[in-house]
Amino acid sequence: MAAAVGWAARDSSGVLSPYNFSRRAQEDGDVTIKVLYCGICHTDLHIVKNDWSNAMYPVVPGHEIVGVVTDVGAGVKKFKAGDTVGVGYFVTSCRACECCGKGYENYCSRMVTTCNGVDHEHGGAVTQGGFSDVVVVDEYYVLRVPDGLPLDSAAPLLCAGVTVYSPMVQHGLNSPGKHLGVVGLGGLGHVAVKFGKAFGMRVTVISTSPGKRQEALEHLGADDFLVSRDPEQMASAAGTMDGIIDTVSAWHPITPLFSLMKPMGQIVFVGGPTRPLELPAYAIVPGGKGITGNCVGGIRDCQAMLDFAGEHGRHHRRGGADQDGLRQHGAGASREQRRPLPLRHRRRRQPRLDS
Ligand SMILES: [Zn+2]
Ligand SMILES: [Zn+2]
Repeated sequence: MAAAVGWAARDSSGVLSPYNFSRRAQEDGDVTIKVLYCGICHTDLHIVKNDWSNAMYPVVPGHEIVGVVTDVGAGVKKFKAGDTVGVGYFVTSCRACECCGKGYENYCSRMVTTCNGVDHEHGGAVTQGGFSDVVVVDEYYVLRVPDGLPLDSAAPLLCAGVTVYSPMVQHGLNSPGKHLGVVGLGGLGHVAVKFGKAFGMRVTVISTSPGKRQEALEHLGADDFLVSRDPEQMASAAGTMDGIIDTVSAWHPITPLFSLMKPMGQIVFVGGPTRPLELPAYAIVPGGKGITGNCVGGIRDCQAMLDFAGEHGRHHRRGGADQDGLRQHGAGASREQRRPLPLRHRRRRQPRLDS
């Protein structure tokens, strides 16, 4: 057992306070990681405030962890002390079911979340997340953080990044020249725009807020901006998009979004409005259009996403262009953090616990 200190919620007040606890003993297949950065995901806020009535207090949130390996078990093959690594939304799955076999551990019924989960592999202990100084994780669920990816902005990629990257790849929304719609410009929307542009796509942001136009076009590099409440603007883009990532977690009318897509276009929901969305059959039947959802991504997709982000950043540095590469979403999200808007993924950087 290793002593750990974290920031825990002890009730639904929203206050986090220092919390001393123990990490499980490192086993043969485990990696011990000193946490350097951890993103704040909206899911953390839901847990802290017990919005879903499942918080197991005291709970240390955080599932966008970046750190350095300090020790490895005797059976660990992928990592050694000193490696820079990440841990995302989950730390265990069964690795035997159909989902695990296909690389979608995120949909395994035995998947255990990085925080506020019940770790059936280790005596049913409640998992404590990355708002802490150390974590112990099975190497299978640890990601390599490629050289050159800034560590602070790599952290939000481990949940928000893979949440949009994985469905984009699954649905072929990663090809140069294709046209991607991104609904909503919170944390997830920021990352979706950056990945869309990094894939070489034409990206249009669709938002209810005209005030986000400048941010979308100038800061994030989107090609176009549509105000979803403006029927003329929406009509001007009808039938042009290959697919849409909808990141909005508040209820919103979705029928107009389908008319933006070409026949057989796919819309992917990654936000979670609690009120049921309205979907008339005529929105999807005539054009053979599809609707699907996505929750984070598997280990394979998460590693591919990090590698892609690292390579894209290196490419841009070589070219002397946008030095930020994919990191700018972090700065954008920090600006968002100060706004009193209901964003799906507010995030800011965690203060370093070791300084
Ligand atoms: Zn998350
Ligand atoms: Zn499984």
